[in-house]
Amino acid sequence: MKIGVIKESDDNRVAIIPATIKKLTPLGFECFIEKEAGAKSFFPDETYEAEGATIDSRENIISNSDILVSIHPLPVDQYKACKATTLLISMFAPFNDTEIEGKLNDIGIKALSLDMIPRSTLAQSMDVLSSMASVAGYKSILEASNILPRYIPMMITAAGSIKPARVLVLGAGVAGLQAIATAKRLGAIVEAFDTRSAAKEEVESLGAKFVEVEGAVEDKDAGGYGVQQSEDFIKRQRAEVQNRAMNADIIVTTAQVRGRKAPILVPNETVEKMKKGSVIVDLASSTGGNCALSQDQKLISHNGVWIMGNSNLAGRIPQDSSTLFSNNIFNLLKHIYNHEDKTLKQDDPILEGAIITNKTQ
Ligand code: NAD
Repeated sequence: MKIGVIKESDDNRVAIIPATIKKLTPLGFECFIEKEAGAKSFFPDETYEAEGATIDSRENIISNSDILVSIHPLPVDQYKACKATTLLISMFAPFNDTEIEGKLNDIGIKALSLDMIPRSTLAQSMDVLSSMASVAGYKSILEASNILPRYIPMMITAAGSIKPARVLVLGAGVAGLQAIATAKRLGAIVEAFDTRSAAKEEVESLGAKFVEVEGAVEDKDAGGYGVQQSEDFIKRQRAEVQNRAMNADIIVTTAQVRGRKAPILVPNETVEKMKKGSVIVDLASSTGGNCALSQDQKLISHNGVWIMGNSNLAGRIPQDSSTLFSNNIFNLLKHIYNHEDKTLKQDDPILEGAIITNKTQ
């Protein structure tokens, strides 16, 4: 069983790291890595070769692999060179890219979308959305602290005292909770919002204050995801956010609703009421952003407020995020494959949720 790993074109991470190759080989997998695929996450080609992988050209890897792994999907046309039996593993995000399933079906290839793995206890160790969101949440506070013209902790010095920074986190899912934990470790005063009532206990257990807005819609069948809120709720929520934002030094926004544009929780007028020098880090920028002024992959300044739009902060800690991603892929492969007869398991709930094409193999 040949696994091919593609070099990402616009990301410093790599989907499989050398330590995982060491664990895959005894399971019967042969690993082929595109030249310099790990270079930007500081896993040079020699470290893959030392674990038994073969460094090869992109062309050879695409046409010879039984399983082709990448973090981001390749341009769809490149999959035409794959064998008809190849299994593609990537983050196809079919809830955002509504045409991807049809295009892959036209090629007649089977694809497993990592972002469709069910959010069950069983699948937790394979959940790349959670592992990458956690890295991003941590990094969001560090990025903000680098721009902020202030300390984060309270400082009592001979030259005078400095008050701790105030951090507001909008969306207390995986990324938000890690942002809260990181801000608390640095000594900030932290407040957080979420529409899921389950988030309250998690926020409070980290020592932050949970800000409640009455009337949030929840759906227990949404697989842990937040759902779209009414116009009236969003209006009241924006007003409450504005009250808190005026005193905040850092706002981290992570609020997402699967398959929809992210809700605007920080409109222009809120930014204009914020303190000069304060920082907004918008992790929802790739789906439109929670701040009306966010521009994806850009750091801008508006009325003295820094706004960083970045939904891929995991890519700024490429070595550890590649390690976590790679562990997720290993756990997935170990779970879905029958190694004796080299087939995918049948009737498996994880595969049922994550295979987005209708090709049977
Ligand atoms: P996400 O990235 O889709 O969204 C981030 C957060 O934004 C969510 O907590 C959501 O409720 C919140 N949100 C949406 N609209 C909002 C609004 N208008 N205002 C404020 N907040 C809003 O979600 P996520 O972080 O990937 O996951 C959310 C939850 O799913 C987790 O906290 C967890 O409870 C659950 N989960 C379970 C598993 C598992 O069991 N394996 C794995 C991952 C996540």
